[in-house]
This record gives sequence, C-alpha cells and structure tokens, in this order.
Amino acid sequence: MKSDIRVCSVWEETHERPIYTLSTTCPECGADAVNSAPAPFDPTDQYGEYRRALKRRSR
Ligand SMILES: [Zn+2]
Repeated sequence: MKSDIRVCSVWEETHERPIYTLSTTCPECGADAVNSAPAPFDPTDQYGEYRRALKRRSR
C-alpha cells in the first residue's frame, strides 16, 4: 500500500517535529518533502548520484 503523505526532508534540522504534507515541498520552510516511508537515499549524501552512476556502469 502506497501513501502520498510526504515529510519535510530537513525537519530534523528545521522543525521540532516532522512536518507532513501532501505537497512536494514543506509548507513551513519550503524544503523538499520526501515520501514518509524510509528514504531510499540520504539527502545529505553528496555522492549518491555518483555512486548510482557507478552501479549502473558495473552491470
Ligand atoms: Zn520543513
């Protein structure tokens, strides 16, 4: 079952509690809102894109 509820991606830094929204951005701080399910990537991981590219190449 899939939910459209999203949560502010930086709520831990910006808010005292998770900010949930149906939008793609946080209504309070304007940051990206991400699916509230466990995130498939770490938004602070600057090398995620690079690593995914490597993964594709190694196949
Ligand atoms: Zn926010």
